[in-house]
Amino acid sequence: MGSSPSREFNKPPEGSLIKLFDPWKSPLCTCPLKYSLNPYTGCAHRCLYCYITSYIPDAFRARPKARLLSRVERDLRKIDLRLPIAISNSTDPYQPLERVREDTRSVLRAIGSAGGKAIITTKSDLVLRDLDLISAMKAAVMITITGLSAELSRKMEPGAPLPERRLNALRELRRAEVPVGVRLDPLIHGVNTERESLLRLLDRLAECSLHVTASTYKPRADNWKRMKAAFGDRLRDRDYSEKVGRTRYLRREIREELLGWLKEEVEKRGMTYATCREGLPELQSAGSCDGTHLIPLDKD
Ligand code: SF4
Repeated sequence: MGSSPSREFNKPPEGSLIKLFDPWKSPLCTCPLKYSLNPYTGCAHRCLYCYITSYIPDAFRARPKARLLSRVERDLRKIDLRLPIAISNSTDPYQPLERVREDTRSVLRAIGSAGGKAIITTKSDLVLRDLDLISAMKAAVMITITGLSAELSRKMEPGAPLPERRLNALRELRRAEVPVGVRLDPLIHGVNTERESLLRLLDRLAECSLHVTASTYKPRADNWKRMKAAFGDRLRDRDYSEKVGRTRYLRREIREELLGWLKEEVEKRGMTYATCREGLPELQSAGSCDGTHLIPLDKD
């Protein structure tokens, strides 16, 4: 096991559920090499800004995957367990269906038993149900929060637990000594980037989070349509005139100002900081952009 992991060597076979993480060929992705596993197809949290509707049919209807556990167990025998598994990128692993199905719980148990590592990203405090498993394995949790306002969250993330419940999840995870970070994602210029509100949020995060990854909204045709219908002129086409590859970006000077200011405020409060796909590596003070640096390595 002396060699370092390489992309080709670790490529899971065709048909695997655990896949090498594919950042959509984004030239700005700074994620370390890792796998990705989505326990469900689709997501019932129905966030207006979500991009999965551009590539998953009927994306806001969550459905289980056939033979999930046996396929994951087979994949775990074939992959390089030194690499973390991101759970998950195209669905929330703790969405309403999970409460009854426990599919995420079963794959976490399998990963833990195999000695694998997991970086779990969710908007749901249902993650607390699995504290027993998570605290015993090599895992870290990233909770996504887009602000403190319940009103805004209800409008923009209608199926997801409200911000206070997510903050409670952070607190309880920390209390159980599970390493936790926050994804402040997406930051939507004109919608959730008001400085005073962000400062109030950071004050709360400082009590319970080790790390913050910030990322600005990168609109695609379908989510832009939903966001415009909800927020009208608060979103302006001209602010999103930059393009990186095929992706639309908020203008660089606005991103630099916002994300640079956030870095100072986050670090002032004792947390580490990173940005996601912004092309601003100089802003990073954490060991990774995706929270994988938080995963403890001593849980054998
Ligand atoms: S929780 Fe994530 S995957 Fe689910 S709808 Fe919201 S942004 Fe999309």
